Amino acid sequence: MHHFAYRDGALFAEDVDLRRIAAEVGTPVYVYSSATIERHYRVFEEAMRAINPSRPPHVFYAMKANGNLGVLKTLAALGAGADTVSEGEVRKALAAGFPPEKIVFSGVGKSEQELAFAVEAGIYQVNIETEGELDLLSRVAAKLGRRQEAVFRVNPDIGAGGHAKITTGSAANKFGVSFEEASRLYARAANMPGVRMMGLAVHIGSQIRETEAFEAAYAKMAGLVGSLRDEGHRVERLDLGGGLGIPYEIPKSFDHGPSLIQDYAAMVGRVTKGLDVELGFEPGRLIVGNAGILMTKVLHLNPRPSKQFLVVDAAMNDLVRPAMYEAYHEIWPVTEAAADAKQVAYDVVGPICESGDTFTTGRELPELRPDDLIAFMTAGAYGASMSSTYNQRLLVAEVLVKGAEYAVTRPRQTFEELLGTDRAPPWLA
Ligand SMILES: *Cc1c(COP(=O)(O)O)cnc(C)c1O
Repeated sequence: MHHFAYRDGALFAEDVDLRRIAAEVGTPVYVYSSATIERHYRVFEEAMRAINPSRPPHVFYAMKANGNLGVLKTLAALGAGADTVSEGEVRKALAAGFPPEKIVFSGVGKSEQELAFAVEAGIYQVNIETEGELDLLSRVAAKLGRRQEAVFRVNPDIGAGGHAKITTGSAANKFGVSFEEASRLYARAANMPGVRMMGLAVHIGSQIRETEAFEAAYAKMAGLVGSLRDEGHRVERLDLGGGLGIPYEIPKSFDHGPSLIQDYAAMVGRVTKGLDVELGFEPGRLIVGNAGILMTKVLHLNPRPSKQFLVVDAAMNDLVRPAMYEAYHEIWPVTEAAADAKQVAYDVVGPICESGDTFTTGRELPELRPDDLIAFMTAGAYGASMSSTYNQRLLVAEVLVKGAEYAVTRPRQTFEELLGTDRAPPWLA
């Protein structure tokens, strides 16, 4: 469920009228709901904790889904850990108040500098994805006089996800060490001075809405835990990644139910029963996806004989999911339409010079006019975090709502900031 709802004819985020935010902050603007983030985190954490109350799990929020400082601080305050994939994310997690002992560092290609920073910071765990990275981590940590706790991210050759571009667990994908190599690498790592192998990690994809693929991958991992132990290795941790999907078609009556989370927890319990490992989870989208919207203003109508374009002030640089993943976002008018309002089929497009800058085609919406506000729903994950300045457009503002209060947690970029970091080459200065 989420906390965006109509009240007296206007769309509210918790107790804040979105028209007020549009007037005071401008558009386009991302608006996040604290109550929604908190609820999703609690529901997930409680369900995972119930799997084996005697060994509480670690929940590492995958901050690449949404790295807004207000969002991160909200989750850090709830006791969440952070799953990071770059030095920038490690630094930002620390700045947001995640203690180093609750930070894991994943990612396909970590550089020497990134590993050194993470080791020095004293993070909880590095998820190693290649043999070269194992060597590098050990060398870097040993040089710093440290022994870094780590797990191998294993590619189970079971991929899943809402789109080919977000499938990561298939052997054809670049992620993780191959399943067949895990035992040899684990044995090698045992003799290395700078690493202490603690277990295994897996992450098969994103926007996965059923448990079957997870179950197949996790069963393989459970088997691997057993065989590594038979070979005499210590395997204490099993990090099961993220990837649980969310409904993008939101019933207006809410509560599409936490049943997927409950089914997932039951499945994890079944597959890891008796394994006696410390479980880790890395949910991203599930925590923040429907806790955010992108509010945009209608700029112009462009009628054609066969269709009606609705040109809005947000574009693919602000929300790339439709262009990149053919993703669907519900569109809600900020001022609630009358029940008998005329419906028009719109192609909703942004101002960018690409035909791909299209949010949706032929979408039936109540008739709209220039200056009307609309909201792209379920835009809290992989929205602002994937935005860019393409077409020299300013990075949009981000706002966090809590009850009747709101704060701009990232002001809209200024043209001074956008243009000020460029440097002319000396021969043209
Ligand atoms: C992206 C990612 C996640 C989070 O995925 P969601 O689908 O947002 O839950 C978790 N773990 C790793 C390693 C990732 O790369």
